[in-house]
Amino acid sequence: MNLDSLYAALRTPDFLAQGACVRQDATLWDDDDRAKSAVAKAICGTCPVQRSCAEWAQANEIAGIWGGIDTATRNKGRRGKFTTMEQRRENAEWLSDVLSKKPAIELAAKYGRTERTIYRWREIAQRDDYGLAS
Ligand code: SF4
Repeated sequence: MNLDSLYAALRTPDFLAQGACVRQDATLWDDDDRAKSAVAKAICGTCPVQRSCAEWAQANEIAGIWGGIDTATRNKGRRGKFTTMEQRRENAEWLSDVLSKKPAIELAAKYGRTERTIYRWREIAQRDDYGLAS
């Protein structure tokens, strides 16, 4: 963790006060224990600020489970190693992009895919919703 990410971690955003994790055992979100991580991810799945939380953690490289996504998954997303739809679904940046109003041609260039693929991703993301709409 560098100083920028430490600073970001110390300055937690206001939306976290609305999180489903408030007043829960914080060690559940450490992502060093599979059983505890599963509980944390299930709680994140019910959280009204899940999307904001996932995007914030992705942008600030915060360690632990945030928005239902663990550190390893976020790091894989940063390295662009996602190849399956299942892996992409867990990537906050991808999901945010696909559900945004950014032009398909822009996202096609970013992800190295055709515009047609972007439209397909968008259709799948909007249909499945992933429980992230809030
Ligand atoms: S998504 Fe998870 S970590 Fe983020 S505020 Fe909600 S419960 Fe907490």
